[in-house]
Amino acid sequence: MKIDVSRVVFFLILRIYCVTAWGFIGHELVGALAQELLLPSTLETVMNLLPVNERPLSKAATWADRVKSKQAYKWSQPLHYINTNDDPPRYCNVDFSTDCTQNCAIKAIINATDILSNSKETKLRRQESLLMLIHIVGDLHQPFHVLGLGEGGNSVKGTFGGNKFSMHQIWDTMLLDKRLKLIGKSDYLDVLKSKIAIELSYAATCAPEDNAVHALITDTKTSLLACFTDYLKQYFRYMFSHNYICPFKWAYEVNQYHCTDGTLNFTQGEDLSLDYYDRHIEAIERFIILAGVRLAGILNQIL
Ligand SMILES: [Zn+2]
Repeated sequence: MKIDVSRVVFFLILRIYCVTAWGFIGHELVGALAQELLLPSTLETVMNLLPVNERPLSKAATWADRVKSKQAYKWSQPLHYINTNDDPPRYCNVDFSTDCTQNCAIKAIINATDILSNSKETKLRRQESLLMLIHIVGDLHQPFHVLGLGEGGNSVKGTFGGNKFSMHQIWDTMLLDKRLKLIGKSDYLDVLKSKIAIELSYAATCAPEDNAVHALITDTKTSLLACFTDYLKQYFRYMFSHNYICPFKWAYEVNQYHCTDGTLNFTQGEDLSLDYYDRHIEAIERFIILAGVRLAGILNQIL
């Protein structure tokens, strides 16, 4: 399959500059990148499942955040993160047995994948699972959704461009927004494309021996999500013994970056739009690209 993100990303960036609310940019990028990597048949299935007013994927990617405060969806709020028990430098880890006793982003991805891949489920349940999956894969790659520090970054404030924000806001939005404005549309497209090329060989890997990208590129739906299938079949046995179950691996990687690399390591009063931005912006973009490719990998495999 020929991978060309330029058209979709160009459209997306035009749209991003029209977005007035904070917080959606990362998810919109993940959705747009994933859509560009879908197989034609998968794309058709996805579009048929998505409500008309939630298309394309860049729009669908924000649905779960838009509904989570509504009474009917309050149950879904714990699905957006996983509460890890981090205490750096002594302890940084994602432990499913203690961090996800009720519900969490990892369990949400597994459950949504299970429902979505079952054609006997109702269209409504599959539709909401698709909307949830598109969003939660993004959340699992965004900072403070897999980090047990500072109440998800909401209780810790930082200065950015002279104004105070929560660290959650700064990581979800401000740093990436600065990137978009600084680089400019056409150069930003080049940055994204080159990063996709670099990450493709790694991004959707479920287990060391799998090569999800190969499946994406060659149109062959091979064993991309074999680990998901194994997991669903052998839930409890795998839970504690298998280090390479996809969402576990993804969550662990994000947690390690933010917990051990000092996401909260800055001087009070320091403007985080300067050196701090330089230190972390590459990681933000990398996780967005990883999320987009991994989401496409899941959908290509199960739909
Ligand atoms: Zn969310």
